[in-house]
Amino acid sequence: MKKDFYEILGISKSADAAAIKKAYRKKALEHHPDKNPDDKSAEEKFKLAAEAYEVLSDPNKKAKYDQYGHQAFDGSGGFGGGGHGGMNMDDIFSQFGDIFGSAFGGGGGFGGGGGGQRRTKGSNLRIKVKLTLEEIANGVEKKVKVKRKVQAPGVSYRTCSTCNGQGQVMRVTNTILGRMQSASTCPTCAGSGQILDKKPAEADSQGMITEDDTVSIKIPAGVVDGMQLKVSNKGNDAPGNSVPGDLIVAIEELEHQFLKREGENLHYDLYISFSEAVLGISKDIEAINGKVRIKLEEGIQSGKILRLKGKGIPSINGYGNGDLLVHVNVWTPKTLNKDQKQFFEKNLTDENFIPNPEKSDKSFFEKVKDMFS
Ligand SMILES: [Zn+2]
Repeated sequence: MKKDFYEILGISKSADAAAIKKAYRKKALEHHPDKNPDDKSAEEKFKLAAEAYEVLSDPNKKAKYDQYGHQAFDGSGGFGGGGHGGMNMDDIFSQFGDIFGSAFGGGGGFGGGGGGQRRTKGSNLRIKVKLTLEEIANGVEKKVKVKRKVQAPGVSYRTCSTCNGQGQVMRVTNTILGRMQSASTCPTCAGSGQILDKKPAEADSQGMITEDDTVSIKIPAGVVDGMQLKVSNKGNDAPGNSVPGDLIVAIEELEHQFLKREGENLHYDLYISFSEAVLGISKDIEAINGKVRIKLEEGIQSGKILRLKGKGIPSINGYGNGDLLVHVNVWTPKTLNKDQKQFFEKNLTDENFIPNPEKSDKSFFEKVKDMFS
């Protein structure tokens, strides 16, 4: 059982952003690896605090966590192992290094003491993936082509001597309060800690080239238009001793020919003729994974909604499927021949043709209320 994120940071659920940040900073400093060398339990606590902070500092993730708990992030599958449930030290320093960086010399330089070098993280790449409703309902693996910056073959870097590979320089100023130390980005290497040593002809000024790459992305069932998935380390690389950024995949949902999506439910407009409504009929519905036959009893009313349980979209969190709601529309003929006209005129006053709704024929508003309950 995973420990509650609020408990890990020692705060209440009502803590605001500033309090969350403050609590994390305190925990991170307490369990910082530089302060607790070779202490595995401190490192574990340090990682747990970072994991908790990563979620609680992000309003979207926090909302998800508050609603679903750890389940919101576990078992969603296919997120490329991004972020949750086991952050590594590089992730922690690249994401939150600035929070406690200044408290330890070297601005987040991890490794302590002897020659620990800072690893820079490359920039993120962003792509859009268009998905059909079928792909969303079933989950899909997509191969996408991206242009990534990578270090050119044969390139080499050496440690920046200005900052000793730390990427930051400490400045000491004398103030009325005494000597103040502050860190700023190294002007020689612009923060990378590395200087280009040998540059191949085709490389740019940082020793990088652009390369075509194909990335396979596992998209879980139930994603929503606008949602972003992260594939770790499939973004641009950075010069020197670095880790690549991430590939951010934005989901775009393509419109379906027959089905309208509303959260996890699907809607289908069925049109039947007046005669079919009177006599009853079986009809094939275009559901998400093929046709489904439904039976309409004789005398079915226009506006009736049939609910096909579980024929909707799976929940992204794995809590079952939505439903398919079939809206019955009775098509009223717009033109009639002479015989048809006579037939209907004859029945204008026939009691079988006079509306007589029963209690079970719910009004439109009651049906809508049912749908959302
Ligand atoms: Zn430097």
